[in-house]
Amino acid sequence: MDVSIRFRREMDKGLCRDTNPTAAVKMLPTYVRSTPDGTEQGEFLALDLGGSNFRVLLVKVMADGEQKVEMENQIYAIPEHLMRGSGSELFDHIADCLANFLEKLGIKDKKLPLGFTFSFPCQQTKLDESVLVSWTKGFKASGVEGKDVVSLLKKSIKKRGDFDIDILAVINDTVGTMMTCGYDDHHCEIGLIVGTGTNACYMEQMRNLEVLDGDEGRMCVNTEWGAFGDDGVLEDLRTDFDREIDAGSLNPGKQLFEKMISGMYMGELVRLILVRMTKERLLFQGKTTAELLTTGSFNTSYIYAIDNDRDEEGLASAEKVLRGLSLDPSVEDCIATQRVCQIVSTRAAHLCAATLVAVLRQIRDNKAAEKLRTTIGVDGSVYKNHQEFSRRLHKMVRRLVPDCDVRFLQSQCGSGKGAAMVTAVAYRLAAQQAE
Ligand code: BGC
Ligand code: MG
Repeated sequence: MDVSIRFRREMDKGLCRDTNPTAAVKMLPTYVRSTPDGTEQGEFLALDLGGSNFRVLLVKVMADGEQKVEMENQIYAIPEHLMRGSGSELFDHIADCLANFLEKLGIKDKKLPLGFTFSFPCQQTKLDESVLVSWTKGFKASGVEGKDVVSLLKKSIKKRGDFDIDILAVINDTVGTMMTCGYDDHHCEIGLIVGTGTNACYMEQMRNLEVLDGDEGRMCVNTEWGAFGDDGVLEDLRTDFDREIDAGSLNPGKQLFEKMISGMYMGELVRLILVRMTKERLLFQGKTTAELLTTGSFNTSYIYAIDNDRDEEGLASAEKVLRGLSLDPSVEDCIATQRVCQIVSTRAAHLCAATLVAVLRQIRDNKAAEKLRTTIGVDGSVYKNHQEFSRRLHKMVRRLVPDCDVRFLQSQCGSGKGAAMVTAVAYRLAAQQAE
């Protein structure tokens, strides 16, 4: 059956009160109800954890007629032992980075409002309380699942005792991306990430979001579509290679859709296929090398270079990459490798298109619109750096919903800036209530 129809069914399961507890696709409420209205202003801090980089940002939002945003940001490294060590050490490190950033900008004595982009599935009960459901991607720090990440961060900041901040919002990176793009394009009601991981959020009608009371207005729902298939509904599409990736991952049995698509796994999928083909004597005269046999040796970024619409350049890249793995490829080996890269990334783009189209159809049906005009805010390393991926994604979406006018808007630093935007809105609303 059509993947898009299957996913639409999974969305329904997640939205309905009775089926939500056992749904693989969680459809999490975000407590974000509207995009910025342009009257927000002030200085906001933001943290962005869960993509390929950890960032701390200071965002200035100005409301002088024309909407304007300025920002300072700094990338900090998160060593692997902290990603997979103890949760308290991870949060202490985040607090250290924040302290370093405030010191550098000379604003340690200002108690600024902060928005936290935490790009993992979280159960929220309000904007500033967010319980981690499960780690994904490369993270697996102990003692965080089932805990409120705001409390954990507050605790680490308090322990230092040298600065104070006001944590107003926790958001997913998809939500940040939608909010940042929504600032520039008021039609934006979907946020999409195809990077280390993959996921999307969109504005849903409160009446369809049965897990929450209230029928008025809209709320952004974080679909967590990476978990599509965790209940077995994609088994007919998963290959031996997908199973092998899953078995060797930090979270076996989880995020099965994500593992067929995102940047953390795409290169490794290609490597596993090349190894199998070599063992079957279809490549490299049947000779593997230690490098080819090493997990992670085929970077996803190699695919961007090899799967290039200018064939010559792509083939030259293939040769370079294969030689880098100590192989001695023939022209046919390079062509076959390029084909494998194309197939893996085309499958990823088409799977993504299928789920995205289910979201588009949901929005179209909600509005009972004949012709939906909408914008999708997008971010993530795969989407941004792999031209063929985004081209195929766009093409397939337009083919599947020819009756929708869909625009893709790439966000600039969306996940982090978006946290500041959400915080700015929360800050404005709190100030209005206090008046
Ligand atoms: C996480 C999502 C996130 C996505 C993109 C997934 O692994 O579960 O929350 O939005 O990665 O960063
Ligand atoms: Mg990000």
